[in-house]
Amino acid sequence: MSRTSVGRWLFTQEGVVDGYILLEGDEVVEVCRGRAPEGSSRAIVLPGFVNAHTHIGDSFAYPAPRGTVEEIVAPPNGYKHRMLRTASREQKVAAMRESISHMARTGTSAFIDFREEGSEGIQMINDSMGQTPVTALVLGRPVHSNASLEALADFVSLCDGFGMSSLRDWPRDLLERASKAAKMQGKLFGIHASEVVREDVDLVLGLKPDFLVHMTAASDDDLRAVADAHVPVVVCPRSNEFFGIDPRIPQLLDAGVEVALGTDNGMICRPDMLEELRAAYRLSLPGGGLAPADAVRLATHSGRKVLNALRNITTEIKHTDDLVVVETQGDDPLIEVVSATGSAHVAAVSRGGRLRRI
Ligand SMILES: [Zn+2]
Repeated sequence: MSRTSVGRWLFTQEGVVDGYILLEGDEVVEVCRGRAPEGSSRAIVLPGFVNAHTHIGDSFAYPAPRGTVEEIVAPPNGYKHRMLRTASREQKVAAMRESISHMARTGTSAFIDFREEGSEGIQMINDSMGQTPVTALVLGRPVHSNASLEALADFVSLCDGFGMSSLRDWPRDLLERASKAAKMQGKLFGIHASEVVREDVDLVLGLKPDFLVHMTAASDDDLRAVADAHVPVVVCPRSNEFFGIDPRIPQLLDAGVEVALGTDNGMICRPDMLEELRAAYRLSLPGGGLAPADAVRLATHSGRKVLNALRNITTEIKHTDDLVVVETQGDDPLIEVVSATGSAHVAAVSRGGRLRRI
């Protein structure tokens, strides 16, 4: 079978290098470094995106009305929670399915979803996955704040770990039991922290989280403590923008924190990682800015490091890995990726070595 090539650049651990992928039919047989053969498409090949924080369960409620974090997402009576109580299961599952297929089309390989609604919430995302090639890490949360360690251990055996709202929403002892139940089974424990109001970083880190979400209201000392504890932080720039919050990515990186990106609530924005990394780049400009390669790294390699807690995804770019091909126009592909490309420029995605043109 004749071989064809796609792309002119690769985004690797070291940044952009000349390179392309070699195909036999739709099978990726090799990721090659060096100058692309004549006729290879003008595109950059990136590792598949990792969307490190979603709540796709509220996609059915898109678009959310304007309001504060408290009014829109806080349990138990924020807009989101009122909507969750009134929508049908079919409505929720159909919207989740659409969000997952949106991720597949726009180059996301894996996502970490925080699920509300207890074990029923876990069942709903399982029902919405279908034949999708996208990997979901499902982090559930209990419905009762007095659940025993035994009940929490039973619960977490149904999913990949706990994804908790913030400290103030739960009794301390419940959070401690949930963290313990997750560790006992080698599962993840993630929690939102210091989104609008600064929370005590020692109390947060005392829960031994695998990662935190937001930290937008944290002090510089808090960020250093998180960096020293080697706890990654997932930042959601478009969700922050919706609520008028500065994502503070340059400050997080300066403090030495591993930063990954997530698209947050499906009712606020679509789970599209190219959009998210462009927002990360744009919204960081007033705070000192990000190098384009750093912005792309947030959506690719850093998310993979968060996932490495489960060791099911690597940071390598190789032919058997998940890849996304983004079309470009000029000679500086990274500037285009962070400022001008969108899902319309995703030419193809590869899952486990098989290329699918979009
Ligand atoms: Zn969230």
